[in-house]
Amino acid sequence: MGDEPLAHVAWLADRLAEAYANAVVEVYSSVLSPPRGAYDPARGQYLSEMVLDEAARLRQSTGVDAALVVASIDAYSPGLNFVFGQAMVGGGVAVVYTRRLRPEFYGLGPDLALYRERLLKEALHELGHAFGLGHCANPVCVMRFSNNIVEVDAKSMRYCRKCAARLLEAGIVVARKFLLTD
Ligand SMILES: [Zn+2]
Ligand SMILES: [Zn+2]
Repeated sequence: MGDEPLAHVAWLADRLAEAYANAVVEVYSSVLSPPRGAYDPARGQYLSEMVLDEAARLRQSTGVDAALVVASIDAYSPGLNFVFGQAMVGGGVAVVYTRRLRPEFYGLGPDLALYRERLLKEALHELGHAFGLGHCANPVCVMRFSNNIVEVDAKSMRYCRKCAARLLEAGIVVARKFLLTD
């Protein structure tokens, strides 16, 4: 959604296919526009709930088990100044917002590796919700809630054993490389 380069989405899809060992990951390369009426000009942000509804429609029209939308916009949710992403918990629908994942947002120079690491963490996090997981108290589990970009950088791109076990109950096999070992 928006102007997210397709190369990043394709890279992300490859990583997700690695992470979820028994899943088939497909990229739908059609560029979507954020829903009309979701933009709040005073905030300069989109209302995440409306974007998530759009993702839910996409899931329905494609017939996939889970849909992840990568949106190069800034979004908020009532009561929150911004969100890095949002999901319908257990509903197979997730969105990641990439604007605040870019070092440039914080006045720094571009850093592709760092940006992609953040993108992958947030995708694993929101998809975890989409598959039914809540937030995790383990400080380095990817399902740990992140209040800001420092907290995104502090957690790993791996699921703890508890979260991986719950994913398995939902039918998702997490590859070893994406599992916390302790
Ligand atoms: Zn979360
Ligand atoms: Zn966990």
